[in-house]
Amino acid sequence: MDGEAVLDNGQNRAKTELLKTVSCRNCGTQIAAEAFVKNLKVCQHCDYHHYMNAYERLNLLIDGDSFEEYDAHLYSIDSLEFPEYPQKLERDIAKTGLRSEMLSGIAKIGGYPTAIAIGDVGFIGGTCGAVIGEKVTRCIERALENRLPLVIVSVSGGMRMQEGTLALMQMAKTAAACAVYAKNGVFYISVVTDPTFGGATASYTSLGDVIIAEPGARIGFAGPLAVASLREELPENFQKAESLLEHGFIDAIIHRADMRQMVTDLIAFAR
Ligand SMILES: [Zn+2]
Repeated sequence: MDGEAVLDNGQNRAKTELLKTVSCRNCGTQIAAEAFVKNLKVCQHCDYHHYMNAYERLNLLIDGDSFEEYDAHLYSIDSLEFPEYPQKLERDIAKTGLRSEMLSGIAKIGGYPTAIAIGDVGFIGGTCGAVIGEKVTRCIERALENRLPLVIVSVSGGMRMQEGTLALMQMAKTAAACAVYAKNGVFYISVVTDPTFGGATASYTSLGDVIIAEPGARIGFAGPLAVASLREELPENFQKAESLLEHGFIDAIIHRADMRQMVTDLIAFAR
């Protein structure tokens, strides 16, 4: 990794170790690591929004150190005795500093106390298992109990096959929690980032009062390879935020640099 930006393990891994340059995943331009981080991991040449981990997203959205984490003790177990699952969990706990694929709690955004949950694609691809379902559900219930606005930042590689039906039922559970929350007239902003696929898209991600995505984010149910196997040619911008906006699936595309202000404005508007 010499010559590239690398991430620390643990709570401080959001602090990128500044070495020399990073290579843009989209256009290949070499970018000074310091400028890359300063520009919120967005390529200054092609505007490609690179992956951010959960702690980086948290820092992007909330006021200072206002975050109080909840349910940090929840973690996945290998109930199906799926081959190599425990090793993968252990590996990604060490890699991300998270105990599960989602960080959740209460923080202030623009001065407004807000319930927040943020996924991390670095933890087994951000796939959705029992823990993410439980954390999302508890976050929604907490928001409702305290009449707080809710922000969920989605990133997901689909449902977690290593947890089988236990993972799949999280769609119904989180969707039911969203329905109760909506019925009570509180306000949910769904922020969708690249990539968000599978059960997340089919449940809580798509149930926001407002759904906003980052530019270029891939959002869908079945991934493009699965869909391509069913038809000869995929349309341009298939499953990209820009195409989904055109078709009314999302409400807005917001540049990463403007996301915090947009979320703050929406919360203020809904009060
Ligand atoms: Zn680029």
